[in-house]
Amino acid sequence: MNAVLAEDSRIREKSAKSRRWWAARALLPTGPASDVLIEVADGRFAAITAGAAANGAARLPGVALPGLANAHSHAFHRALRGRTHAGGGTFWTWREAMYAVAGRVDPDRYLALARATYAEMALAGVTTVGEFHYLHHPPGGARYDDPNAMAAALRQAAADAGVRLTLLDACYLAGGLGPGGHLPLDPVQQRFSDGTVDAWADRVSTLHDSDRVRIGHAIHSVRAVPRDDLAPVVEPARPLHVHVSEQPAENEACQAVYGCSPTELLTDAGALGPMTTAVHATHVSAFDVALLGSSRSTVCFCPSTERDLADGTGPARELVDAGAGLSLGSDQNATVDLLGEARALEEDERLRTLHRGRFAPAELLLALTAHDSLGWPDTGALVVGARADLVCVRDDTVRTAGVDPAQLVLAASAADVDTVWVDGVAVVEGGRHRLGDVGRLLADAISPLWES
Ligand SMILES: [Zn+2]
Repeated sequence: MNAVLAEDSRIREKSAKSRRWWAARALLPTGPASDVLIEVADGRFAAITAGAAANGAARLPGVALPGLANAHSHAFHRALRGRTHAGGGTFWTWREAMYAVAGRVDPDRYLALARATYAEMALAGVTTVGEFHYLHHPPGGARYDDPNAMAAALRQAAADAGVRLTLLDACYLAGGLGPGGHLPLDPVQQRFSDGTVDAWADRVSTLHDSDRVRIGHAIHSVRAVPRDDLAPVVEPARPLHVHVSEQPAENEACQAVYGCSPTELLTDAGALGPMTTAVHATHVSAFDVALLGSSRSTVCFCPSTERDLADGTGPARELVDAGAGLSLGSDQNATVDLLGEARALEEDERLRTLHRGRFAPAELLLALTAHDSLGWPDTGALVVGARADLVCVRDDTVRTAGVDPAQLVLAASAADVDTVWVDGVAVVEGGRHRLGDVGRLLADAISPLWES
């Protein structure tokens, strides 16, 4: 038995024995509660009782929250952290570094990097990750023996790190969109592409769901998928994610070629709806906001990435008021701190509008725990019957001491996460991941990618 499996079985044993826990504070759907007894059976919450005595139940530290959903990640971008700012760093500095790393990742390196990155996410309280996956093939347009070898690496990485995975397999066919139409793929982008939407669909049709993995579809963007190829990517029963209007240049090119915005183009293709997530939605018009809201699409904001790439700040409050769902993502993983993303969302709104209180703490918690758009409607709340995902955030650290539990999401960070369960199994305890030294795992995974 290898070390991970041995560790896993020890955790499962422990989980099987200790099925009753007691939290001094917990954030329930009804609001903050005290003295909460939590019972778990078969990986789900069997009872949650506020105002109960501990009665010998194991005590949980800090404040208990539902598991967090990281709705938008590109795991391999983790290797770019602290590598894209030389001379100040432009968008092109970033893209050059991204392409350099993308060219050096093979399935083994992808497994090591994604495993360490997902472990870092678990340490931040993430129990489900939505991986927007477009690094499909070897460099140069060849194919691996298993055309889904890179997807298999991601699945294994999530299993090793103990997190649930929604694998959003992205269709990526063109090298960009200019005023004259779609551009050919450049050599680095060839590994992102299946060549045609039919070939993409054939490859994706061999991927399967499991108890811990959901397969979703993704349109990389209207820059990378021409209009006629948008509709075939839509499958109403599966999550569909798409980068939308992250930068003004995408809108300008779309307007020049199609005479409409990316959101309008997606609407015409039947791509918006309750299973769809528009990632970023930064530069959207009032009409786009109405379309996203009335279709009950979700918008995923990724404030740390939008700041890092100088994208701008989207109209989050207007989108939610129009009817859109709201989720959060770490995107390029320049930081992995979902609590920080929630705080950034509210703070960016304050800067954008010169008003405080754009999102109440309870709304930020809902965005942090939004699992529906990842295909896990029975996850993300401390309620009986839900999958037993739970995060304990310490309320006695230098960042959180003295904080009202109801406002914890505006004060705490990833560093305050103590305990994380996925399906009732402890993945993080005492701030330590079951895989051990995650910093070392990250360093070992990243350094080969920067050796020439
Ligand atoms: Zn992205």
